Amino acid sequence: MTDAAVVGTGPNGLAAAVTLARAGLQVALFEKADTIGGGLRTAPLFDSDVVHDICSAVHPMAAASTFFRAFDLGARGVRLLQPGMPYAHPLPDGRAAAAWRDIARTAEGLGADGPRWTRLMAPLAERSGAVVDLVLSSQRSLPRDLTAAVLLASRALAHGTARTPFATEEARALLTGVAAHAVGKLPSPTSAVVALLLGHAAHSSGWPLAEGGSARIADALAADIIAHGGTIHTGHHVRDLAELGDVPLVMLDISPKEFLAAAGQRMPSRYARALRRYRYGPGAAKADFLVSEPIPWANPLVRQAGTVHLGGTHSDIVRQETATAAGRAVPDPFVLVVDPAVTDPSRAASGRRPVWAYAHVPHGDERDPTDLIRRRIEEYAPGFSDTIVASRGLPAAQYEEYNPNYVGGDIAAGAMTLRQSLARPVARWDPYRTPLPGVYLCSASTPPGPSVHGMCGYLAARSALRTRYGLRTPPDLSPKPKERV
Ligand SMILES: Cc1cc2nc3c(=O)[nH]c(=O)nc-3n(C[C@H](O)[C@H](O)[C@H](O)COP(=O)(O)OP(=O)(O)OC[C@H]3O[C@@H](n4cnc5c(N)ncnc54)[C@H](O)[C@@H]3O)c2cc1C
Repeated sequence: MTDAAVVGTGPNGLAAAVTLARAGLQVALFEKADTIGGGLRTAPLFDSDVVHDICSAVHPMAAASTFFRAFDLGARGVRLLQPGMPYAHPLPDGRAAAAWRDIARTAEGLGADGPRWTRLMAPLAERSGAVVDLVLSSQRSLPRDLTAAVLLASRALAHGTARTPFATEEARALLTGVAAHAVGKLPSPTSAVVALLLGHAAHSSGWPLAEGGSARIADALAADIIAHGGTIHTGHHVRDLAELGDVPLVMLDISPKEFLAAAGQRMPSRYARALRRYRYGPGAAKADFLVSEPIPWANPLVRQAGTVHLGGTHSDIVRQETATAAGRAVPDPFVLVVDPAVTDPSRAASGRRPVWAYAHVPHGDERDPTDLIRRRIEEYAPGFSDTIVASRGLPAAQYEEYNPNYVGGDIAAGAMTLRQSLARPVARWDPYRTPLPGVYLCSASTPPGPSVHGMCGYLAARSALRTRYGLRTPPDLSPKPKERV
């Protein structure tokens, strides 16, 4: 007998299923695609020896979140490989700024702004666990570590406004590039929190890549579910909740839009109206390249970076992101680039290697981004185009077909405005519980929002265990001795 059905096998659906299965429930998962993983898929695209991360590539939050700390990927054989330089930011005039894991080394490279960078990041890095737990929470309880809350709030206030305390372009652009991960108007309180969360993580738990590809993380989660009696059904698009039968508990790793469609007339009209008001944000347009050599970044410093931000100066990025969020295409969008073999040499095979990149574009943008992204990389890495063996582009407008959670190409599964980072997807005390008995939302459209941290799934499962079964203590998620490698 199935105790719980989980719809969707992204990191949040898998995290919910792990948590419920560990609490002793019989769990069945249903996934639209032919493979599990949602944003955690890795596959060969052009050459059978070279795999590409289809969505997520870099995992600062899988290295840091409460869920993954308890799940312990390392003990299960998933190696999170750390670049010594988590990210770099080349500037149009040839200079570049670099964030090293070592704050002192980062500060040294930032010259006059070095001490300011240290004062901003070091106190957060020293309390990293508390900072991560605070941001990656349901945002419905008082912070357990008040010092971490004060440190974060005071810094977010200073950096969420148009003024930047930095004097050099290097430091300004370095931080604004991280803020752009919030994919929205800049500056804003939400992007400031994202900048501080990811920015300090670079100096503490790091910005690792999973050896062999992001799918290794999904595989480890699925193995745990199966080891605890769960079943996984791929190629099953749940279009109507009635398909799930009389199962007492339903966890939905799906978008509010998909939930509205699948619940149909059963959805109370007030809640349905609130879900219809949920706003989706700008899109991402991805390009994958198969190349013959490492990206020839003009500034050699950048060649060591795990992730590279291409946005130009601080004011360029503010302009690009604000226009994109307002639905206007810009000729020079913000682009994130990863040459995974820099951090994980196993990704390169027989003189070929993958390059992962995406641009921020307006919601629903239909343009094939391949050439735009190629030209953007070429600006900072002359000769890049000559190394391309094969490429493919995925316009923002086509993401939803690939994964219904990315409405209009919004990979954050909902605009990251201040309102929607709290009222996600609607303003309710328990954001996971829906008015349909036994039905819980657990996707990145619930707090704490996007990224591979598993926390939406974990917190939704804990809400379900508490409200349906009276279980207040979280189940043990650590690997059993036979699961350790
Ligand atoms: C191009 C790109 C780059 C990214 N880069 C990073 C990164 O480097 N680091 C990072 O941390 N995050 C990154 N992200 C974001 C991250 O992947 C997501 O935030 C995360 O995967 C969200 O997890 P989720 O479980 O909520 O949903 P998803 O991972 O989107 O999974 C949802 C799953 O549910 C399935 N589904 C939906 N509706 C139904 C239905 N009705 N029936 C059956 N199945 C259904 C979908 O097919 C999908 O498999 C990136 C995303 C993209 C697209």
